[in-house]
Amino acid sequence: MPQSASDPPAAPGIAHAVAPSLHDRGNLHTVATQQLDKAARAMNLDTSVRAILSQPKNELIINFPVRMDSGEQRMFKGYRVQHNNILGPYKGGIRYHEESNLDEMKALAAWMTYKCALYDIPFGGGKGGVKFNPREHSKPELERITRRFTHALGSNIGPEWDIPAPDVGTNSQTMVWMMDTYMNIVGMAEKNSVRRIVTGKSVTAGGSHGREAATGQGVVHCITEWAQDKRFRLDGCSFIVQGFGNVGSNTARILSKLGATLVATGDYKGYIANPEGINPHKLTEHVGKTGSVMGYKHGRAIAREDFFGLECDIFIPAALELEIGLPEAKALRCKLVVEGANGPTFPEAEEVLLSRGIDVLPDILANAGGVIVSYYEWLQNKRSERWDLEEVETRLERRMKRTFAQVRELTIEKKLDWRTASYEVALDRIQKAYLERGIFP
Ligand code: NAD
Repeated sequence: MPQSASDPPAAPGIAHAVAPSLHDRGNLHTVATQQLDKAARAMNLDTSVRAILSQPKNELIINFPVRMDSGEQRMFKGYRVQHNNILGPYKGGIRYHEESNLDEMKALAAWMTYKCALYDIPFGGGKGGVKFNPREHSKPELERITRRFTHALGSNIGPEWDIPAPDVGTNSQTMVWMMDTYMNIVGMAEKNSVRRIVTGKSVTAGGSHGREAATGQGVVHCITEWAQDKRFRLDGCSFIVQGFGNVGSNTARILSKLGATLVATGDYKGYIANPEGINPHKLTEHVGKTGSVMGYKHGRAIAREDFFGLECDIFIPAALELEIGLPEAKALRCKLVVEGANGPTFPEAEEVLLSRGIDVLPDILANAGGVIVSYYEWLQNKRSERWDLEEVETRLERRMKRTFAQVRELTIEKKLDWRTASYEVALDRIQKAYLERGIFP
């Protein structure tokens, strides 16, 4: 990935610290289609349902101008892809990244459809974002970009139609700006009833307790269930997290509470390792101050190639998509890969991992904690309620364990890998809805 103009030069020895650009890695929509096809074959999915799901319902591209701090005007390209809404309103994150593109949005939107269906959440799938590097902009510029984009989206989003949330490069502050802008384009009397236009807001703005850490918490629920099945002790085991943002850092902190040790991690600037263990709480403080894991004094800088070859029990990709290709799948020395990120594994790389006896818990199963608690946030707003943290956490745990058990049963009964089994549960729900309703007219 290109470094921003303000980034310092890479330290000696880590010049190739990060992966090639997203464009050079492959097409994400092709990967999503391959996964869908594999699951469709395994369950004999109705061909008309398969055809509907192979493309999003709506694809929106918006070019909009924003005034920079310097006074000059700059054009930005924004996206919103609405994949499917047979089970409920479109739902999915907003990504700010310099390499965002339409095919990436299409894949990410489709995975939201399957994730919500898998967990029986009454939402469909969507995804959007703006193609730019947020690290290159001041807070006032980020605010103006967000507000102008939200305004440009206008009635293409809505609290019962399409509900955005945070993703890579966005956070609760971004959601508060989106909410406030949307509230200001509806009539005065409607303001409060549209608070649920976005989820992942700050708690002060009407967000839910537990949302910030929910995706990481959900990743850990899946690991706990897997470990119980395998009679594997998490206390004393080692793990690696790629990406130390919302998902990566929360997963690391929660997993370390169960006695597991973080031995390596990395982000857009490079990778660090320490076989004695890295304290994820202290590392979070360091990242808060410096913006990267690099330079953390209790970790040695290592090259990307070495990072994927380190021995550990659990490897958790929690950065961007398409990070695990064939070389990485051959290099990994772990028992389990848990996809905190969306789409981190190429299909052919997954085959290699499976043939090597490494289990892969897929994104739609493992990283659904965020959208589950987003659903709880949306419900709380709709009912004018406020649930305490304990209630949110209990509901999240119950839902995740129930679905994990359902998928596990299918893996055993039909001898399926975890991804195909997860798809089958999701696609079965979507297929039933289509067959029952038929196609209008
Ligand atoms: P984030 O922006 O908070 O963090 C992303 C992390 O990845 C950062 O540490 C960043 O430096 C690192 N990174 C970026 N490019 C990299 C590269 N080339 N090599 C190594 N590291 C790199 O984003 P996030 O919200 O934590 O999302 C991470 C992944 O999890 C994404 O795939 C996202 O779609 C997925 N996800 C997020 C949520 C959520 O609730 N935030 C929910 C489900 C899935």
